[in-house]
Amino acid sequence: MEVNAIPGTGRPASIAVAEDLYGIGRWGCGYFGISPNGNVVVHAPTAAGHTSIELMQIVDGLRARGLDMPVLLRLGNLVDDRIHQLNQAFQKAIEEVGYRSPYRGVFPIKVNQQRHVIAEMARAGAANGHGFEAGSKAELLIALSELSSRESLIVCNGYKDAEFIDLGLQAIRIGFKCFFVLETPQELPAILERARHWGVRPLIGVRLKLSTQVDGHWSNDSGDRSLFGLTTRQLIDIVDRLREEDMLDCLQLLHFHLGSQIPNIRNVREGIREACRYYLDLHEDGAPLGYLNIGGGLAVDYDGSGSNQTNSRNYTLDEYCIDVVEAIADCLDPHGAPHPVIISESGRWTVAPMSVLLFNVLSVSTFDAEPLPDTLPKDLSEPVKCLLDTLQHLRIRRLQENYNDAIYYRDQLRQGFRVGRINLRERALGENICLTILNRIAALVPQLDRPPPELEAMRHQLSDIYLGNFSVFQSLPDAWAIQQVFPVMPLHRLDEVPTRDAIIADLTCDCDGKLDRFVIGGEHVATLKLHEVQEGQEYYLGVFLVGAYQETLGDLHNLFGDTHVANVHVNEQGQLEFVQEIHGDSIADVLSYVEYQPDELYQRFRQLAEQAVREGRISVNQRQEMLSLYSDGLRGYTYFENG
Ligand SMILES: *Cc1c(COP(=O)(O)O)cnc(C)c1O
Repeated sequence: MEVNAIPGTGRPASIAVAEDLYGIGRWGCGYFGISPNGNVVVHAPTAAGHTSIELMQIVDGLRARGLDMPVLLRLGNLVDDRIHQLNQAFQKAIEEVGYRSPYRGVFPIKVNQQRHVIAEMARAGAANGHGFEAGSKAELLIALSELSSRESLIVCNGYKDAEFIDLGLQAIRIGFKCFFVLETPQELPAILERARHWGVRPLIGVRLKLSTQVDGHWSNDSGDRSLFGLTTRQLIDIVDRLREEDMLDCLQLLHFHLGSQIPNIRNVREGIREACRYYLDLHEDGAPLGYLNIGGGLAVDYDGSGSNQTNSRNYTLDEYCIDVVEAIADCLDPHGAPHPVIISESGRWTVAPMSVLLFNVLSVSTFDAEPLPDTLPKDLSEPVKCLLDTLQHLRIRRLQENYNDAIYYRDQLRQGFRVGRINLRERALGENICLTILNRIAALVPQLDRPPPELEAMRHQLSDIYLGNFSVFQSLPDAWAIQQVFPVMPLHRLDEVPTRDAIIADLTCDCDGKLDRFVIGGEHVATLKLHEVQEGQEYYLGVFLVGAYQETLGDLHNLFGDTHVANVHVNEQGQLEFVQEIHGDSIADVLSYVEYQPDELYQRFRQLAEQAVREGRISVNQRQEMLSLYSDGLRGYTYFENG
């Protein structure tokens, strides 16, 4: 395709158009872009600078290694980089504000517990003193075995039983700073009892129930009705109890978590101001404190709008850090209180960019009309004649009226068919004429100043359905459960203008198994711009920013299992390393999750086949063929396989 270069850049103009259309520069966190030949690239940060790798090169590499689509691609470099950026940004803010304590981040394991991710995190964390947040016994066990640096903190949230507490106390014995954050007053007696038993001084934190409420989806994590955190009364009781036990010095940390994905920076500042009031009063009351844990909530700009909307955020990382550090200093300085170590539990922000879901398109359904035949039968029925007449008299000034007519005559046509006056062939002709009318109207609607909502809705009804080789429920559960918008775009052909408007359906064929919320040209819309799929050629799409929460929340709807996972890394020489390929669930795997025994299934099928041999229905050879198909099936991938 002929394209003009953008003056001075040597880059085809079509690439800039595609960048704007899909917004890759707005949501890509600087990691993703488009190469001059129209492929999506990842700019992988390494110690020696950035290396750009085309995702299609990775797709080809995966296919050559026997990994079919769909594949969850994890880009290890991005984890390192994010941990580094987060620590740098806090460090810079601390210097700018003249803050007199350090930052110590912890990664909340629940956001992505996968072994390879946690190992990468521990490695990157060791250089920055970045630790882990554990919300359960299982997560604490992970933290204890993965964390190597004692500079890094462990923060235990969640409701804790004696076993959880015992484990945390062992961590203190080895020399880790492991905090128990009290979510409820009931946890305290158990902590005191177990600490006495082991002869260990516990590090205790309290989770505040702030009245500051945040915008966005997670607004109920804070405020009076939040499930977690202590009321002011409970807090006072805890302080009194600790003083009685002569253990007030163990109360070292204040924690609050306003909710995930906080879109509005104002909420962050308000939360900090409120928490600092607690900090000052408790400090004056004799609790040493020393650590202020501001929870998670650092948001990802999924829609690239930079706004205070649910899928976005109206601040940058630097602004977040400055606001946090400044707000704490501003609150404490007038009272001469010492500056606490700042802990944040940023999960989503840290890992979202790392993962991309890669899948191919299996088929496309369109609602285009067939070309009308040159000659039509003479004795057409009334509804078909009227539809033809409507088609011949389409006028842009009368689109709504033309639309109403088309729908009216189509109803007449269908009614005629139901009562036997119109035959199948004639109905098909009439339906096609109607579809021709609707498509022509749809093409004219964008020219209207104020398109009627009915006509806008009709346009969406006519959009294509691209069938993607993946399951929304398994790989993008938040797209289904909380209508989260993720960036979706083709991985290649971006030097061509996409001509189709489409939604994406998944393999489940469930009416909820689809993607129909996109951001195109900066607007939230119901259809995605895609290229026409060419016969015999694969078309690949990527869903971006899926590294946080999606892997573990995914479920087995329709028994589509875990996808293959590929962990890749770009080394300092700029070479792409396929560090690890993890095969997704086989069909036998998913069947065993729902309590089938694959062996037993096979044996039963074998018996049926054997019986058919005895009855002379099939030959022994055919029996063999069948059984090997069955056992291949059990071993196979749960997604569509290319032969
Ligand atoms: C889930 C959670 C987090 C992580 O929040 P993000 O928005 O992913 O940063 C942090 N702290 C607590 C207590 C949480 O429950």
